[in-house]
Amino acid sequence: MKIGVLASQGAFIEHIEKLRQLGVEAMPVRLPEEIEGLDGLIIPGGESTSIGRLMRDYKLTQAIRDRVKNGMSVFGTCAGMILMARKSDDAYLESPGLMGITVRRNAFGRQRESFETELNVPVLGEKPFPGVFIRAPLIEQVNGTVEVLARLADSTIVAVRDGKMLALAFHPELTDDPRFHQYFLEIVSGRD
Ligand code: GLN
Repeated sequence: MKIGVLASQGAFIEHIEKLRQLGVEAMPVRLPEEIEGLDGLIIPGGESTSIGRLMRDYKLTQAIRDRVKNGMSVFGTCAGMILMARKSDDAYLESPGLMGITVRRNAFGRQRESFETELNVPVLGEKPFPGVFIRAPLIEQVNGTVEVLARLADSTIVAVRDGKMLALAFHPELTDDPRFHQYFLEIVSGRD
């Protein structure tokens, strides 16, 4: 199994390390030809405006859409989730738009710009998952086929899956907990 991590900008090294710790072949991706042989792609956190522009400039936006049609899985975290959404509050954002969700950028206001909270994620088991939120987006709406995996205590949606697509508003790569990466690998391999 081969997983690429989009390395245009943002927190990609941590994702590569997590995947390698799990014994998976993982590589940084910057060019369209580098996604050809991949089973899965992670779009990391960072600044969605910059990542989106770089994807466009390097001709990755359409290449990713095409690979997804041929079965590649995608896992987006924070800015990566924004880029996976078909709709956002940022009309100027350039993105592949892979998932039927509507997101709002920087949704938590100044006082809660960054925070950590324990999340109840039934697909990962009983133990709560440490949610690290950094200038995070939230998911305002999900379409019919999207499954909600986690919510905050006030019921804000922060983790979703749609078939081979997984998107989180927070940063699992900045924790010691590998369960979301493991879960993604199960999705990629068709075990889940
Ligand atoms: N605030 C960033 C954006 O809107 C996302 C932050 C992150 O990825 N940690 O793109």
